[in-house]
Amino acid sequence: MTAVADTDLTRELRALDAAHFLHPFTDHAALAAKGARVITRAEGIYIWDSEGHRILDGMSGLWCVNAGYGRRELADAAYQQMLRLPFYNTFFQTTTEPPVRLAQRLTELAPPVQGRRFTHVFFTSSGSEANDTNVRLVRRYWDLMGQPQRKVIISRWNAYHGSTVAAASLGGMAAMHAQGDLPIPGIAHIEQPYYWDLRQPGETAEDFGVRAARWLEEKILEVGPDKVAAFIAEPVQGAGGVIIPPETYWPEVQRIVERYGILLIDDEVICAFGRLGHWFAYERFGIRPDLVTFAKGVTSGYVPLGGVLVGERVAKVLVEGGEFTHGYTYSGHPVACAVALANLELMQREALPERVRSDTGPYLAERFATLADHPLVGVTESCGFVAGLILVRDKATLTPFPEDWEVGMLCRQHCFDTGVVMRAVGSRMIIAPPLVMTRADIDTMIGLIRRALDATWDDLR
Ligand code: PLP
Repeated sequence: MTAVADTDLTRELRALDAAHFLHPFTDHAALAAKGARVITRAEGIYIWDSEGHRILDGMSGLWCVNAGYGRRELADAAYQQMLRLPFYNTFFQTTTEPPVRLAQRLTELAPPVQGRRFTHVFFTSSGSEANDTNVRLVRRYWDLMGQPQRKVIISRWNAYHGSTVAAASLGGMAAMHAQGDLPIPGIAHIEQPYYWDLRQPGETAEDFGVRAARWLEEKILEVGPDKVAAFIAEPVQGAGGVIIPPETYWPEVQRIVERYGILLIDDEVICAFGRLGHWFAYERFGIRPDLVTFAKGVTSGYVPLGGVLVGERVAKVLVEGGEFTHGYTYSGHPVACAVALANLELMQREALPERVRSDTGPYLAERFATLADHPLVGVTESCGFVAGLILVRDKATLTPFPEDWEVGMLCRQHCFDTGVVMRAVGSRMIIAPPLVMTRADIDTMIGLIRRALDATWDDLR
């Protein structure tokens, strides 16, 4: 399908954008110099901008459009629900049908861990709100358990858990902490399990995984085991640069949280709903969480929705514990929940998690790995439908380029110019494509990425 460049629209929107729109995570001086890229429509795995470029969306929007663009049944579900009941709240002993059905559906999709089921869901409108909820929820749990001194939540540097005050504090992004006096008290951080940065000479990835997990034990002992409420982590760190932990990491973390009896919050805002080849990624890594944060893929990003899946050990205490004084106007929004139900049905019908697990995920891994022969590429890694490569100056020693060369940003620009969206996190180039991709789509994407790498290489020589 061809799109026609609309220069007037582009000019008008760029001017209005610069004049009025305060963007998230954006340097506005840089934006004003260049003008925002205006995305006007999307279909399948492609987006179009107002200048008529068709771009393969290797990032599924912002890690969320799992079912791909243009899915009419999701629009229909929203339309029908808006006509029937666009909104009613779920406070003060009222409910509506979509969140009830969705809560039940999610608890069915989540496999039990060691015979314990996920029985309840708390709904929010985003991943950030869901993690804020987690902070309040785990403290409430320990209060009700008669251990109110358990307040500290341990997280990891370079984790991303959202942008609200509490979620940004849980996260380990130094640039976010530097603004607004974060983190708030009661949050401690340990190093991330990033082998390529933190390995010791001669250390295997397996040995490193165990050593990295033990940083959690050291921190628990430093804080005091009776003061620690929970550990929060993403199965694979997404926004931190697709940091895939060694296979030995999670089993050792699991041993440690169980030894000290602390809660495990598994932030699956990116990793759930097929992204790693399972409905929930805890299955992939053998994680046994008490709480699972979700958002993004639950609606394939068509409308905002997030929440926390609560395991029965915590749910029972909360349910019997009287009022939990927490909630959002849009907790259990009927339209968002109706779209989520339609999205989960679609994903199940098309067997998207299964396809990623046994067909397109392994194929993506194989094809992505072929990029390792490029002179700029040091390492390639993938897990399900997330993948990352490291841009290096010297392949043999994996020496990076000087940071101020901003080689990642240069490569990202070449990706756009070539017609594929990739994200740059320092020297890591990452993708998280829509789960509906076929093998032929994967071939197309890898071809585009290689062309963008070549263009970057030409600039640097
Ligand atoms: N947690 C993780 C792991 C995320 O990747 C994100 C967003 O990217 C969030 C939480 C925050 O979600 P939201 O942007 O919906 O608030």
